Amino acid sequence: FIDLDSSATTPVSPGVLESMIPYFREDYGNPSSPYPLGERAKEAVSQAREKLAWLLSAQSREILFTSGGTESNQTAVRGALSARPGKKEILISSIEHSSILGLAPFLEKEGYKVTLLPVNPCGRIEPETVRNALSENTALVSVMWVNNETGAIQPIEEIVADAHKAGALVHTDAVAATGKVPIDLSKVRVDSLSMSSHKIYGPKGIGALFLRKGETFSSLMPGSQERKRRGGTENVPGIVGLGYAAVEAAEFLQNSIAKITLLRDHLEESLMDYFPFIRRNGPKEPSFRAPHITNLGFLGIAAEKLLMDLVREGIYVSMGSACSSGSIDPSHVLTAMGQTREEALSALRFSLGRSTTARDIDRTTTILSGILKEKRRAS
Ligand code: PMP
Repeated sequence: FIDLDSSATTPVSPGVLESMIPYFREDYGNPSSPYPLGERAKEAVSQAREKLAWLLSAQSREILFTSGGTESNQTAVRGALSARPGKKEILISSIEHSSILGLAPFLEKEGYKVTLLPVNPCGRIEPETVRNALSENTALVSVMWVNNETGAIQPIEEIVADAHKAGALVHTDAVAATGKVPIDLSKVRVDSLSMSSHKIYGPKGIGALFLRKGETFSSLMPGSQERKRRGGTENVPGIVGLGYAAVEAAEFLQNSIAKITLLRDHLEESLMDYFPFIRRNGPKEPSFRAPHITNLGFLGIAAEKLLMDLVREGIYVSMGSACSSGSIDPSHVLTAMGQTREEALSALRFSLGRSTTARDIDRTTTILSGILKEKRRAS
């Protein structure tokens, strides 16, 4: 099969798997145990933390291991609200992942005013939109670094500057950004950032939350581990695997971004040059785009059918985020960009990965072109 759905998940890389195996077998210790077996596990966790801090240009004490992107996001939002107890307003972008947007009704019940920030037709938040929505009552602004459906890079640096001026904290979900766009937290002064291992060739069920030093934090799961910020025996093999994945992600960022960008552009061009009814959902400007995602609207065609036709040929893509597929609701990201229900239901997301080849792209465009010609003949 051809996997063009790397934004849903990725396989564990051979190096990552290799790095984890000793911590299932001979080095199976509990990092809290005061003898060599435990000390080795503790040392492995500490080294993984340093690798992650290095990837993000953060300090290792600012990295907290969690069960993944969802927990990191929810911990960050809850932590920020408890750090700004008098403030009752939250600004959330309308294109956030469900692990953030899904909190809104709960927060509203608790008395918070949640404002969903609109995006422009290209799927980017305009910094002015945030600036105008900020008030002295804003506790938190949550805007993702890269949108997982369109690949649109958000203006995080500008948002941080405005939010901090107004006394609000900034959280960013960098699950789709990590290893795909450079992230330097010594320059971009967000207060918290989420990442997830299984999107960067690490194991599932592990992730990290960056919490900037000096910010107060309330734990969702109090306990003695993770400097009292998260209770529970550490997932040592998962943490080690994530550390290894972080190093590989940095190598990919250094060496393979140009290649994956070319493949993505080739995919777009060979379809869009041929079929005028295909439109790109997301920014055109290369500097506003993560290199691995393209979201295409096949106007007048139900994407659900296209997706199933591709599946029959062994080509895997997605309609928006995997977490919401199974239902045929239109993507909240595309509707936030001003698309009608019908337009949004005509879109497919292609997300390329480390193993995507030019042959995969050629095969995909050939098959998809055949399907599209067939559909046009039939209509
Ligand atoms: N944020 C984004 C942008 C995502 O794409 C995902 C995964 N679909 C998550 C958060 C949640 O991450 P996890 O699967 O590790 O909980």
